[in-house]
Amino acid sequence: MRVETKKIYYCEYCKKKSMRKDIMKKHEKICTENVNRECGICKLLKNDRSDIKSISEIALTMIKHKETSRECGGVIDITILNEAEVLDYIREKTNSCPNCILSVIKQIRKNIDVWFPSFKYKNEFEAMMQDINADRNGYGEY
Ligand SMILES: [Zn+2]
Ligand SMILES: [Zn+2]
Repeated sequence: MRVETKKIYYCEYCKKKSMRKDIMKKHEKICTENVNRECGICKLLKNDRSDIKSISEIALTMIKHKETSRECGGVIDITILNEAEVLDYIREKTNSCPNCILSVIKQIRKNIDVWFPSFKYKNEFEAMMQDINADRNGYGEY
């Protein structure tokens, strides 16, 4: 019989784990649940670092939401009533960086279980990458 004991490295912020310390260290730095994360997109765009913690705290105070309880199991649905207003604030403070917006939303969701239906991470991320590439290639500037 061969017994091996291996260390597992867990992310301090989310549920991710790895057998490799270096990989986990790298991940923690950019983990979207880490309020002090380094944002590659913001670096690329030379944006100021977004203060995820204070942006999410202020956004939390702005949110107006409605709770509807479902008939069975006492499950409660939470709907945001002023999504556009809150999302505008977040976008402004994060320079519309999709990763920073996602980080803020994840912090908010630790307190209120709301989602922002008009924020489509994948679309915004792709649009952002297209802008970055256009700038690099000198397109998009007329
Ligand atoms: Zn993580
Ligand atoms: Zn960012």
